[in-house]
Amino acid sequence: DRVAASSSDLTLVPFVVLEDLLQRIFSRHGVSDDNAKILATNCASCERDGSLSHGIFRIAGYLSSLASGWVDGRAVPRLEDRGPSVIRVDAMNGFAQPALAAAVPAILDRVSATGVALVAIRRSHHFSALWPDLEPFALRDLVAIAMVTGFRCVAPPGGTKPVFGTNPLAFAAPVAGTHPLMFDFATSAMSNGDLRLAARAKAKVPLGTGIDSHGDRTDKPEAILDGGALLPFGGHKGAALSLMVEIMASALTGGLFSHEVDFSGYPGAETPNTGQVLLVIDPERAGNSDFAGRVLTLLDTVRASGAARLPSDRRYRQRAEANKDGIPIATDKLRQLIVLAS
Ligand code: NDP
Repeated sequence: DRVAASSSDLTLVPFVVLEDLLQRIFSRHGVSDDNAKILATNCASCERDGSLSHGIFRIAGYLSSLASGWVDGRAVPRLEDRGPSVIRVDAMNGFAQPALAAAVPAILDRVSATGVALVAIRRSHHFSALWPDLEPFALRDLVAIAMVTGFRCVAPPGGTKPVFGTNPLAFAAPVAGTHPLMFDFATSAMSNGDLRLAARAKAKVPLGTGIDSHGDRTDKPEAILDGGALLPFGGHKGAALSLMVEIMASALTGGLFSHEVDFSGYPGAETPNTGQVLLVIDPERAGNSDFAGRVLTLLDTVRASGAARLPSDRRYRQRAEANKDGIPIATDKLRQLIVLAS
């Protein structure tokens, strides 16, 4: 009764109701209560903000991965102190978000003591957007950068075989008097989630998105998914960023490279078991006592130049609408979620 029907196809769901529903789904499918709450908040936040490729669309993949035994929903992460600014986390083959949550007190402590924290998470399954990992730091007036590796599905330019994951890179910075600035995108021309959504909708994708199994450029999402590969965005520039993500999120953390992830022995597994790196910085330590004000000045100048949209504008607009009216969810999908929770 806390769900307002808006049309026969869409139902408007309050955030807390979706969060509670998702928490019950995770708890019923092998995730500990603590971890279920963290995953549910993360997934509901993605749906609320319109990060649809990482919202409820991902539930099936979470559950099939859990059922396959590939990921441990009850994992308790282990933290290791590796120096004044370095926190190493073994996610113990669990999801990345609980591993990060376990590290937050230590991160804030190190940033307060030294001005910077490097967080190296390994043996972790990241199956979501990166911005929810960073926004809480920017809300504390900190700058944060994150990278995560995936499973091989992106070929380097000129290559015909996938090597990289879609390897997202995200950044968040405080802005005086308003929401943090955030951007968060895959270094591939398209995220795997969006590619699968396009395949499901029988839509075409722009040429340059990926190649088919012969190495030829194609606009058919099925051909990219079926033995082909995505391509990096921006040619060699995106490919270099993707390389950096592999080096930082996997080589540096001790996690697997995307091309080393092999879930073939676990039918149904979808979550990559790799690594994640975060860098959290107190920006005022470097000499500017009005960092957030300087960022505001820059953003105002960019807008005044005619830029109609800055990264995170859409997200905050969508969030405000969802907080006011509820999160629009296809009614048949909502019914499926209710069944999974009961
Ligand atoms: P998009 O191409 O949709 O770009 C997202 C970012 O760019 C957002 O910050 C967005 O802001 C901003 N943006 C988009 N369009 C514009 C525009 N016209 N002008 C200014 N800014 C714009 O992202 P992707 O599809 O590449 O990635 C989607 C998500 O997938 C990310 O959250 C990423 O973390 C996640 N992902 C996760 C993976 C994993 O392994 N865990 C793998 C790959 C991707 P806004 O938010 O306001 O729209």
